[in-house]
Amino acid sequence: MPDHKYRQTRQKHKISLTTLLTGLVSLVVLLTSTILLIASYESKKQSLIETTLHLNSFNAHKLSQTMDSLFISMRSSLEFSARTFSSMEQMDSDVVSRELELMRNSSNYFNSVVLVEKGGLVLHSAPESLNMSGKYIVSPTALDALKLQKPYVSEPYTTSSTGRMIVFMSQPVFNTEGMYVGLIGGSFYLQQDNVLSMAFGANAIDDSGSYYYIVDSKGHLLFHPDKKRIGDDISGNSIVQKLMRGESGQAQAFNLQSVNLLAGYAHVPSNGWGVVVVSPSSVIFDQLYQYLRMTFMYTLIPFVLLLFGVIYVSHRLAQPFVYLADLVSKFSTEKIELPEPKSHWNREAELLTQAIFLAYNNIQKQTESLTQEAMTDPLTGLDNRRMLEQKLQEWIAAELSFSLIVVDVDKFKFVNDTYGHLTGDEVLKHVAAIISASVRPSDICCRYGGEEFVLLLLNTRTPEALTVAERIRVGLEESRVPTGSRITVSQGIAHYPSQAGSGAELLQRADEALYEAKNRGRNRTVVSGE
Ligand code: GH3
Ligand code: MG
Ligand code: MG
Repeated sequence: MPDHKYRQTRQKHKISLTTLLTGLVSLVVLLTSTILLIASYESKKQSLIETTLHLNSFNAHKLSQTMDSLFISMRSSLEFSARTFSSMEQMDSDVVSRELELMRNSSNYFNSVVLVEKGGLVLHSAPESLNMSGKYIVSPTALDALKLQKPYVSEPYTTSSTGRMIVFMSQPVFNTEGMYVGLIGGSFYLQQDNVLSMAFGANAIDDSGSYYYIVDSKGHLLFHPDKKRIGDDISGNSIVQKLMRGESGQAQAFNLQSVNLLAGYAHVPSNGWGVVVVSPSSVIFDQLYQYLRMTFMYTLIPFVLLLFGVIYVSHRLAQPFVYLADLVSKFSTEKIELPEPKSHWNREAELLTQAIFLAYNNIQKQTESLTQEAMTDPLTGLDNRRMLEQKLQEWIAAELSFSLIVVDVDKFKFVNDTYGHLTGDEVLKHVAAIISASVRPSDICCRYGGEEFVLLLLNTRTPEALTVAERIRVGLEESRVPTGSRITVSQGIAHYPSQAGSGAELLQRADEALYEAKNRGRNRTVVSGE
């Protein structure tokens, strides 16, 4: 494969400096931005998680405080009624009924209230629609409470008579002598509007999906946005277990549906219940998504500007090197005229440009001087035979018309033999000087070999060539030669293309004419064919 072809195919697989730099800086800018975006995303996520956890824990505490005071009020309300009944001499039915209705309606703590005597007979119940007065209680929970003779709160349970899920709270009633006479009990219906839904809002779930629930001391759901789940035992839940141990705090956990939750939880001291406020982590991801979108929008324009900026700068950086590389690659294939070197703001580019321009100029000069030397005769300073052949070829190829003169010094051997070789050289220089002085600058003068010279006269026919030749011959004859004696030349002239079809033939014709001149006695000029 030729050298330049080989180089071209190799160059095809190379990446240009501009592409390399541009690609590299773009990559760096892109990666940096991505890393920054990821870092900011992660830190925002962490802070959102912490904020949400903190907020939920704060809300759980608030709710637990509300729950606590609510429960204390409920207990007080029962205690107050119990005291009222214990101070009564006689349990008058009307008074009892009025008292119970008053208690139920004034506070709305309980969906229903009952007054039970120690044998289990319901003395009175409110509302009237309950229709329990005069009957014996059968619910094991109520019977337990009756036996206990102490303030009591039940777990959620379903009554056999109404099928309602309730929580039953009671307070023992003692008479003035301190004898146990029965209890006053209040129930709230878990799956209907009750004291909890009134205090905490019927809708326990907000727009973002955050919600809360209340569990009792055994881990049963008392309050939950999903009413179907009320009464469920969720004591297996890790947060509920903490609540049951009396702890409060915040935690990330998975619910039964494997949804990651951010929870705040608080224990209610007065009854051992617990409040849990939870947000599904999707709440955070929605906010994170918004945040990312905003960040992206705010950074997009600066990012694009930066990207264009660095691409532009890398282009400018690479430009001088690309220019020099292209220039240098041309050096090897063609001769080029160097443009004015450009000045660069980059130090290395500036140095490299200067160095390359300097080197190229030096090479050019050396090449020119070598070419000059290769074409010059060292003794006389005239062109040499190589130059003659080149000019002959050029002129013939260009179909120019010209004359050729062969000049041969007469009896030069005698000069050498008599005065020595060095003087012979001086004579040759002298002859060359006479020849140079006798022709036009456009004419070609060569030392063909030994004491023989050849002249090419462009656009010159034989008569004019003869004039020039005679000027040389006479000029030499009349000049003062280094030997002091007279030096003469014989000359042969031929014309192209009228007398020859090629350079070799032209030389041959002129040589023949020279030979004729020598034969005719030397110191003369003969035109070929005359
Ligand atoms: P003719 O009149 O027939 O031309 O006789 P001539 O003696 O000039 O012819 P010939 O060709 O026999 O001799 C040429 C001589 O030129 C032979 C050689 O010694 C001499 N010569 C050739 N080149 C150089 C040179 O470079 N320097 C010197 N000093 N002499 C040279
Ligand atoms: Mg000769
Ligand atoms: Mg000679």
